[in-house]
Amino acid sequence: MSAFEDIPDRLARLKRRGMYRQRRVVDSAVAREVAIDGRHVLNFCSNDYLGLANDQRIRDAFKAGVDRWGVGAGASHLVCGHTAAHHELEEALAEFTGRPRALLFSNGYAANLGTINALVGTHDRVFEDRLNHASLLDGGWVSRAAFHWYEHANVVDLEQGLAAAAAGRTLIVSDGTFSMDGDRAPLDELVSAGRRHDAWIMIDDAHGFGVHGSGGCGLVDPARYGLADVPVLMATLGKAIGTFGAFVAGDEALIEFLIQRARNYIYTTALPSSIAVATLKSLEIIVDEEWRRTHLQALIRRFRSGAERIGWELRPSDTPIQPIVVGEPDRAVAMSRGLEARGVLVTAIRPPTVPVGTARLRITLTAGHSEADIDRLLEALAEVRESVAEG
Ligand SMILES: *Cc1c(COP(=O)(O)O)cnc(C)c1O
Repeated sequence: MSAFEDIPDRLARLKRRGMYRQRRVVDSAVAREVAIDGRHVLNFCSNDYLGLANDQRIRDAFKAGVDRWGVGAGASHLVCGHTAAHHELEEALAEFTGRPRALLFSNGYAANLGTINALVGTHDRVFEDRLNHASLLDGGWVSRAAFHWYEHANVVDLEQGLAAAAAGRTLIVSDGTFSMDGDRAPLDELVSAGRRHDAWIMIDDAHGFGVHGSGGCGLVDPARYGLADVPVLMATLGKAIGTFGAFVAGDEALIEFLIQRARNYIYTTALPSSIAVATLKSLEIIVDEEWRRTHLQALIRRFRSGAERIGWELRPSDTPIQPIVVGEPDRAVAMSRGLEARGVLVTAIRPPTVPVGTARLRITLTAGHSEADIDRLLEALAEVRESVAEG
């Protein structure tokens, strides 16, 4: 008898608790409308915040990249997989973020794990916001540094922890925008806490990069935050940028150190160069087309005022992530189904992705939506509210 024979029971338990996850098979490119189960529905769950994942110019750049570089990179960056296309993208990302250097990773999960694990170890300390993304938490655990939580966005709690911790190398890690709540980290306070306690700050700007700041530079705007304020900046390319991959930006020494020590950088195949070519095109568009950010902000305001008018309680978020917390997983799932029946796709997010009792509808808005799309979403939300009983 293997100890693993209880796996079917564990699955059954997840089903009973309304926590069983099933993948939806999408039958179209990511856009404001997607095809699911033979129907077209309005999509309010992608992270394609600027509506670029399916942009013709980026598609063309990607195809040209395949013609120039082939498909697979064939090796890791340190062996012979680091091409001129990767190199050019790293230089463009450094310029975009106003930092001396940037280092490409295959995805954000790997970048976070690899970076934290390279920066701290057994004799060090890592402080993480309770609502940090799983990849940041995993990075802290894998590093074997002493792991400290602080209450969500609570710098007083953080500073108490910092004051009580032994002296030595300390890394404070936070999402820039929290992925399931849409609120932003208290960056100024984190930076001053870091200064007072001689700790380094690492910000994961997965949801802010491309969306906020001048030219889409993200939440860690170089006009406001220098390298000494936020030594480690990480962001992903699979969200607003519309392609794939991630990067860390910082000073020369940080990037050279990660090249030597980040295991998720060293022991993995480089991204396809065509992705780098497509991403370069996307960065150009993001700088040139300010209207995408302006339009997105207008949609966010329209959604929030409309939702408040029909009596929904919203989280304090001025980002494209606009969750509606409904409590129990079953209720979130029922509402998500109700919305889909009305032609609107919104995912139900349940524990363990979010704390128990805070299952929610995670609505994401993109520059690809129109004002009429927002109004349709609001109408559908008002209808499901009537049809799905409280609690
Ligand atoms: C999506 C996300 C990641 C992971 O990035 P991938 O490139 O999708 O692996 C990391 N951190 C945050 C905050 C994210 O939202």
